[in-house]
Amino acid sequence: MDSLCVLDEGSSHQRETFATETESVFKVREFSAAAHQAIEWLANMLSRDEVEGVRLQRPVDLMARARSLMTKADLGGFDARRFADILELYLETGIKVNSRGYMGRQFSSVMPVTAVFEMVSAMAPQPASYYEAGQLANIADRLIEEVFGRFIGWPQGSFEMVTTSGASLANMTAALVARNRRISGSWNGGLAVGCASRPAIAIGEDAHFSVSRIAGIIGIGQDQVIRLPLNKQRQICPERARAIIDGAMVQGLNVFCLIASAGTTAIGANDPLPELAALAKRHGAWLHVDAAHNGAFLVSDQLRPRLAGLELADSFCLDAHKTLFVPALCTLLFYREKGLAETAFPQKDSYVFDPFEDEMAAVQSGVKNFECTKRPSILNLWLAWSLYGRRAFADKLEQLVKITRSAYDYFIDQPDFIVPYQPESNILCFVHQPPGLSGNSLSSLQLELRNRVRAAGRYLLSKVDLNGQTMLRIVLMNDRVGLSDIAGMAAEIRRHAGDILENESTKGGQDLPVGLEPEE
Ligand SMILES: *Cc1c(COP(=O)(O)O)cnc(C)c1O
Repeated sequence: MDSLCVLDEGSSHQRETFATETESVFKVREFSAAAHQAIEWLANMLSRDEVEGVRLQRPVDLMARARSLMTKADLGGFDARRFADILELYLETGIKVNSRGYMGRQFSSVMPVTAVFEMVSAMAPQPASYYEAGQLANIADRLIEEVFGRFIGWPQGSFEMVTTSGASLANMTAALVARNRRISGSWNGGLAVGCASRPAIAIGEDAHFSVSRIAGIIGIGQDQVIRLPLNKQRQICPERARAIIDGAMVQGLNVFCLIASAGTTAIGANDPLPELAALAKRHGAWLHVDAAHNGAFLVSDQLRPRLAGLELADSFCLDAHKTLFVPALCTLLFYREKGLAETAFPQKDSYVFDPFEDEMAAVQSGVKNFECTKRPSILNLWLAWSLYGRRAFADKLEQLVKITRSAYDYFIDQPDFIVPYQPESNILCFVHQPPGLSGNSLSSLQLELRNRVRAAGRYLLSKVDLNGQTMLRIVLMNDRVGLSDIAGMAAEIRRHAGDILENESTKGGQDLPVGLEPEE
């Protein structure tokens, strides 16, 4: 249908509107119908008490099912049935973050009210990079900055926080600030400018893959990444790190940035931050701490001491969408010194930035951020903090750490399980070791166990390779998980191991299949 010209006869002005058939797609009636339907589905999901992991489907099958749900018409209408089918398919294929069987990943269930607000902010957007467009989003940044500054112990007004969509982006942004500060002229001239020695970044052996990518992204080069060795608790060992960095300097490398972890992805280990801060200082290097996972300990009086030394970092980030239970993505990136955030991207374009800084420009985040259009995800955190206060976050986090410790104690008592690392956080690694199995076959068994447990659909575990040994790994993100769930999961592992080994012996001991999976 062509555009209509509507004449408003009741007014002295002639008003033209251009309505098309697609207009009905944006109508309020359909919004209400869809919203009510979705809320019912989600309320059901939240009240379910099934122990369930994930229902994996073969990609070809899922593709066919999804394709069959796509309208054949050039312009479809709202079809409640089709909408319900799509909702169902979405929920069916997802990880069950609210289930007690969900143990494998760092993705979190969210405080339901934040998910409601997520819909509000999608419908009535406040793109957070510009004050004009995202007023409350930019103010919420400042308020959350203030709250966390108190926990870190930094004087108000002396530091700075920006939000990013994910810790991967936060780590990269902080490393850019480090590069621009320590290798002057590099933003305009590139790395060849003013570099007598080759710039290098030092990271721990267990650093997250987003950290090991940074050197490639910001022009340092993977060959200039120095891997620092770990101690028995898989924390960077400061003495050996010092020797290695000294050696690198002698060989003509300039280690301008050291990236430590507070909560490694593999086992949740916290690096010794005071010692690493001293080491960074000694070499004039920037210290960034990837506290994506454990940074949230800041909100808990009980857990905060585990982050001792974080206040010495030049920058650090934490993922509120993991351990502060708000929708993804919501990452807080802190700089110890105010004014540093805008040195990440020292460039100002006229269609975005006015020539004169006014009070509004002073609080807007665009100049400090990689993203242009940006979800105001900080508002979910601010909303929940405003409604519930600190304890709502701290209590759940403390509970998760407590159950993980109980799971560790439980496995210690099981003769056929090995638990090599006492958990610092809510991540626990273990190996199921039936008698007589070691080396490669033990590793292959863990991988096959992960696959079989996942395929059975009750529990979702992950796996990790550490020191050449494949281990099973759980991340407890759901505070309803209890010891009986841990015991149930262990029993299921034993049962699968029994089946596998029996099958092996009848088949004459073929090698178990080996697979790969991405990191979190
Ligand atoms: C999850 C995680 C990341 C990546 O963060 P995203 O928010 O997924 O981009 C980086 N480092 C650590 C330690 C993590 O746990």
